[in-house]
Amino acid sequence: MHELSVTQSILKIALEHAEQAGASRVTDLHIVVGQLASIVDDSVQFYWDLISHDTPAEGAQLHFRRIPTELLCLNCEQRYLPAREDLACPHCGSIRVKVVAGEEFYLEAIDVEEERMSSM
Ligand SMILES: [Zn+2]
Repeated sequence: MHELSVTQSILKIALEHAEQAGASRVTDLHIVVGQLASIVDDSVQFYWDLISHDTPAEGAQLHFRRIPTELLCLNCEQRYLPAREDLACPHCGSIRVKVVAGEEFYLEAIDVEEERMSSM
């Protein structure tokens, strides 16, 4: 499944970020997932627990923010949120549409804990 590879890339980015920030631990990851991205949160969490083991990101909380699918009708140029199963434009019925949102998958923010804080 591709959740493994996306989880690996998230981990890589998180660890690089932590290193650059001089942080000892990654505490939270904020991930944006489009409705069409076919990413299963639970699978990402599962792989995360597995591959973050023994890294500074072990035990970090994953937060998922879902972005609804938004389409642009190429016929009447209206943007709309499609009803489930029905992607046709509600304004003119056209099926010549373009996806403008809903396919995203990216890391929005990373929270880290700095080395010196941990001694408090
Ligand atoms: Zn239309």
